[in-house]
Amino acid sequence: MALIVQKYGGTSVGSVERIRNVAKRIARYHREGHQLVVVVSAMSGETNRLLALAKELAPEPNPRELDVVAATGEQVTIGLLAIALEATGHKAKSYTGGQIRVLTDSAFTKARILSIDEDRIRTDLAAGIIVVVAGFQGVDSAGNITTLGRGGSDTSGVALAAALKADECQIYTDVDGVYTTDPRIVPEARRLDTVTFEEMLEMASLGSKVLQIRSVEFAGKYNVKLRVLSSFEDPESTSHGTLITFEEDDTMEQAIISGIAFNRDEAKISLMGVEDRPGIAYSIVGPIAAANVDVDMIVQNIGASGHTDFSFTVNRNEYQQALDVLAAERGKSFKAREIIGDKRICKVSVVGIGMRSHVGIASRMFKALADEGINIQMISTSEIKISVVIDEKYLELAVRVLHRAFELDTPPKAA
Ligand code: ASP
Ligand code: MG
Repeated sequence: MALIVQKYGGTSVGSVERIRNVAKRIARYHREGHQLVVVVSAMSGETNRLLALAKELAPEPNPRELDVVAATGEQVTIGLLAIALEATGHKAKSYTGGQIRVLTDSAFTKARILSIDEDRIRTDLAAGIIVVVAGFQGVDSAGNITTLGRGGSDTSGVALAAALKADECQIYTDVDGVYTTDPRIVPEARRLDTVTFEEMLEMASLGSKVLQIRSVEFAGKYNVKLRVLSSFEDPESTSHGTLITFEEDDTMEQAIISGIAFNRDEAKISLMGVEDRPGIAYSIVGPIAAANVDVDMIVQNIGASGHTDFSFTVNRNEYQQALDVLAAERGKSFKAREIIGDKRICKVSVVGIGMRSHVGIASRMFKALADEGINIQMISTSEIKISVVIDEKYLELAVRVLHRAFELDTPPKAA
């Protein structure tokens, strides 16, 4: 008997029929003797619909109230799923984030989980009850409803698995695992049987939408065994999806590059002709961070005649805010000849732990892009990834040629 946390995303619970199907799968695991905690998202499209309602009333709604509105989506699904489970003769009980006391900080719309009170869950599980918990939401110490950021139900699932020391956290979604890249762009993309935790972390942060980045960080920190599976397969299916592993196992497939990730949600800001002096980077990025805007890739040129250029990328929906912050600071903490923004960019990355032990990955990547006449605007690297910023219009082409250049359409040979 195992304690399993299952998380179902919005498309998996997108209709009454699908909820019924999810209930069947849960019932199967329950029949096999496992204890189950199930975390669900709002029905697909629901969170967008709710947020759009709020934005009809005010262009920048109060974040506290946005969370009050957005959190209702998940409350609907937990109730419906518990009803579906009871209708098939299973004991089930639904809880909102606040009821189970998923305690978070007070950063509305992107709160972080601080603790989870697992006593009530354990009592229910011991009584044979299937516990259904609303993803994406929590409560701060003052009792305010908070949400964890878009896609946050993954994090709820992993956090619950960590708190309960679950044997496995299964993330059910509309794809049957983690792919070498998005199959909608490259039909030859392959499902990976395993991917290392570090690669997954990179892929999630680089915009591979299978898992929310925070959920992967959480899984790493608390050693949660994470598996990505499809909720669209037959509820009796025993498909294994993709397991996120912690060690590099020699007996497993060894690819140099595991995947091509991309992100269309970024924008680039360049400050031309800033002074080349100690503290300049801080005077630019400091105020941006203080406004709670995440800065991603940063590039600073070599200085010439006391001046330099400084570029960075931010999330596209925080782009205007970043520009406003810079406009307010310009002439105060820094001077710049010109500030140029560009929203029509994207980021494409190759990811793989094999990069640690192989040379020539960057040159292979740059050649593949050069052969297609794709200009690289920014480059950044880590131990296991190389990212480039390019014109948005070349995104699909770039992903396709890189997938081919690294032969990702054919399975790697066992080492
Ligand atoms: N319903 C939330 C969203 O759409 C959370 C989630 O689905 O994970 O972002
Ligand atoms: Mg999701």
